[in-house]
Amino acid sequence: MFTHRLVFPASVLRGRGAIKHLGAMCGRLGQRAMLVGGQRAIASVEAKVADQLEQQMVSYLGSEIFGGVCCQEEINRLADVFRTQGVEVIIATGGGKALDTAKAAGVACNIPVVTLPSIAGTCSAVTSLAFRYHQDGEFRDMMPLPCGPAAAVIDADLLATAPLQWLSAGIGDTLAKWYEYRAISDLSQLTGLAGVARTNSELCYTLIEHFAADACFAVQDGKANNALEQVLDAIFLYAGLTSIMSNGAHTGASHALYEGFTACPKTRHIAHGLLVGYGNLCLLALENRSDEELLTAIALARASAVPTQLAHIATGLTEQDLAVIIDRSLSTPDMANMPGDITFEDVRRGIERVEVLGAKIN
Ligand SMILES: [Zn+2]
Repeated sequence: MFTHRLVFPASVLRGRGAIKHLGAMCGRLGQRAMLVGGQRAIASVEAKVADQLEQQMVSYLGSEIFGGVCCQEEINRLADVFRTQGVEVIIATGGGKALDTAKAAGVACNIPVVTLPSIAGTCSAVTSLAFRYHQDGEFRDMMPLPCGPAAAVIDADLLATAPLQWLSAGIGDTLAKWYEYRAISDLSQLTGLAGVARTNSELCYTLIEHFAADACFAVQDGKANNALEQVLDAIFLYAGLTSIMSNGAHTGASHALYEGFTACPKTRHIAHGLLVGYGNLCLLALENRSDEELLTAIALARASAVPTQLAHIATGLTEQDLAVIIDRSLSTPDMANMPGDITFEDVRRGIERVEVLGAKIN
C-alpha cells in the first residue's frame, strides 16, 4: 500500500503588493528574522523586508548571501548560520536554487521559512522539494522535505521588475505541466488526485494561452497588470499544486530534453524552464501531433519569449553536440515515461521538424 503525502505551504499571499503582509506573517512565526538569497535578490528586497519587520517589531538580523549552488554543503552551511545566530524565522528570496537551499536548511534546523521569490522561473516558492546538486553544479537528486514553506509571498509588483527571461522560463516549465501530463497520463483515470492534477495542468495551459503575451509586456514595462497576476498564479499556484498532487511524477520528453541540454557545455547554463519550454515542442513532435498543433505551440512559445529554434538556445550547436544531448535525454527516466520506445532517430527527426516549422513563423 502506498500512502500519498501531500505537503502544502501553510499560507500563500499573492497579488500586487503582497509584500506588505510579510512583516505580520513573520511576526506570527518568530521574533528574530534573517534574510537569505542571491546578492541581486537581496539588494532588490532588503529595504522593504527590513521595513516590514520593523513595523511588527521583529528583530532583523541581517542578510546571508546564498553561495549559488543548492548542494548539501551549502545547506549545512546555512543551517549552521541560522543556528548560531539564533534565527527564529528565515525569509528566503531569489530563484529556485536559493529558495530550495533555504527550505532544506530550514528543515535541517527546524526553523520556519517564508519564501519571497524575486523571479518567477519555478514553483519552488510553494513546494516541499529541493533540487539538490553536487558542488560543481551537476544535478544530484530531488530531495523531498518533510514540510513546506510556512508562507509563500508572491508579489506581482516585485516580480514585474525581474528580467523577462525568468518569466519566460517559468512559462516554459509551467506549459510542460500540461503537455507532459497529456502525453504520459491515462486521461480517463477517475480519481480525485488525478483529476486535480489534470485540471490544474490544463488550467496552467489555458491561463498562459490567454495571458502570456500581455504578462510579458508587463515585465518589459516593469509594471504588474492582471495578465501578469494570472500567469504568476499559473506558475506558482496551479503548477505548484500539480507538483504537490502528482508527487512530481508527471515528467516526460520535455524534461528529458532539458537534462540532455545539461550534458552539453554550450547549453548547460541556460535556465531550466527555457530548455523545458523548447523541449515541449520536441515532445509534441515525438507525439506526432499535427503541423497545425505544433505551429500553435510554437506561436505561444514565441509570444512568451521561450526558445523555439536551436539557434535561440545557443549558436554553433554541432551535430556532435546534438548527439550528446539526445543520447543523454534518452537515458533519463523522464524519457522512459513516454509511451512507446523512443529512438535516437525519433528525437533527431522531432528536433528537425520543430526547426522547419519554427522557421515558417518569423
Ligand atoms: Zn521543470
